[in-house]
Amino acid sequence: MSNTDFGNPDVIVIGAGNAAACAAISARQAGASVIMLEAAPQAECGGNTRFTGGGFRFPFKGIADLEPLMPELTDAEKAKLDFGVYTEENYYDDMGRQTNYRTDPEMCEILVTQSYDAMLWLRKNGVKFEPTYQHTVKVDGIFKFWGGLACVMWGGGPGLVELEHKACAREGIKIFCDTPAIGLLQDAKGHVCGVSAQSNGDNVDIRAKAVILACGGFEASGEMRARYLGPGWDLAKVRGSRYNQGAGIRMALDAGAMPYGHYSGCHSVPWELNAPLFGDLRVGDQFQKHSYPFCIMVNANGERFADEGADLRIFTYAKFGGAILRQPDHFAWQVYDAKTIPMLRPEYKIKQVTKVTANSLEELSKKMSGVDAQGFMREVTAYNNAVQTTAKFDPLIRDGRCTTGLKVPKSNWAQTIDQPPFEAYATTCGITFTFGGIKITRDAEVESVSGRPIPGLFATGELVGGLFYHNYPAGAGLMGGSVFGRIAGRSAASHVKK
Ligand SMILES: Cc1cc2nc3c(=O)[nH]c(=O)nc-3n(C[C@H](O)[C@H](O)[C@H](O)COP(=O)(O)OP(=O)(O)OC[C@H]3O[C@@H](n4cnc5c(N)ncnc54)[C@H](O)[C@@H]3O)c2cc1C
Repeated sequence: MSNTDFGNPDVIVIGAGNAAACAAISARQAGASVIMLEAAPQAECGGNTRFTGGGFRFPFKGIADLEPLMPELTDAEKAKLDFGVYTEENYYDDMGRQTNYRTDPEMCEILVTQSYDAMLWLRKNGVKFEPTYQHTVKVDGIFKFWGGLACVMWGGGPGLVELEHKACAREGIKIFCDTPAIGLLQDAKGHVCGVSAQSNGDNVDIRAKAVILACGGFEASGEMRARYLGPGWDLAKVRGSRYNQGAGIRMALDAGAMPYGHYSGCHSVPWELNAPLFGDLRVGDQFQKHSYPFCIMVNANGERFADEGADLRIFTYAKFGGAILRQPDHFAWQVYDAKTIPMLRPEYKIKQVTKVTANSLEELSKKMSGVDAQGFMREVTAYNNAVQTTAKFDPLIRDGRCTTGLKVPKSNWAQTIDQPPFEAYATTCGITFTFGGIKITRDAEVESVSGRPIPGLFATGELVGGLFYHNYPAGAGLMGGSVFGRIAGRSAASHVKK
């Protein structure tokens, strides 16, 4: 293919996930001609976005803010929904608390203050939302929402990609699949003026006035995981796309970009032990095992190693993958009894689970492969003796029903594990995305190591560093990609006009 086959675009967007689609639509709507280059073939196009549950985190003052996003809700449905409120202050608080107050204040402010507007813009561009029923508890016939996540994408991640790509098509933006970018073109002054890519087995140079990097982090590269996250991380399973190999970060660093953010940090969750090495679109995110606040997790020694009830799930799930990875042989079993089995989330019911059942704890201890049975019996006995029953068990709130005197406490939702039948599920670490990346300005220009923007280069999405450290509040990943994608598109179009 020659450059003409790619249509002499003003702007090239690298990637075809949520961040890329938002950037492309925004650049087009600001007057630039745009193409997108996607490494994956058509069947796997859409990156990690396609694997997501489609949860978006944004502030809202009540149902009046949500109605424009979900106009399909009938009055009868609305009468059964109690969304509560999620203020900007709540969002700042969650971002601060989850990141140990390391989140970049300027980026965080942009995320918090521009996210609701970005939601309205997505809706205007044909993206549809529905209530996040999986974040509700039904009380007296009313669905009460918790954790500040009101909206989820209609059709989940696949629905999001489908509707965003339709919006791209409406705007006349072509997506070239199977066309990985391998380098940035820079002129003698260092201005970015296009992309080197592979197309039909050949290397091609595609010229453009601006390039937007939106091609994900390095979570799918075992080599980069071991290098940046540390020993053992090469053994993690990848929850999503195999194509996020860190190419965007490498290309940007080669062009002089400033590395930024938590390079040794990532988002990782408890994940089915025998899941494939990379995500399987037929299963999506159902390999996750997220009912752990109501269980005990034990390692090969039969010992607990983390406070399963430290906080509401959406505030702990992103770091428990790492906690499991640090255990001997990188696995953990989640143990439930008759009291909590009915509370298990739908992902526990899929065919592809590694599960054992038993009618006594002794029997269970011998069935959990790789676990020291005696160690487990000692641990579960000590745990049961430590459970305090004064606070009432309440899955909706941090109920304070805790253990006392244990080396590893359980701070909420502690219940004895003593009523048969018992079930245990084997998990390992599933990595979602990496936190380290490149630095951008508030206009989403890529900053150089000298602190100046690299002319013609913009970025959004998982490859941007600075928002997340240690942990992250659910739904902030898609939201960040959309907010900064919109900005990157506008900035790239304005650069083109200059
Ligand atoms: C199982 C799972 C569930 C999740 N659920 C949620 C959720 O509910 N809410 C939420 O906020 N976040 C969720 N996330 C995180 C979420 O995926 C990301 O925050 C978001 O989708 C990232 O969007 P992105 O566009 O930056 O990256 P991606 O969607 O991964 O897109 C990157 C794109 O770049 C392409 N690419 C890579 N290298 C190249 C190259 N060299 N040339 C061209 N193209 C390239 C990839 O193929 C891909 O299409 C989840 C992630 C996973 C894996």
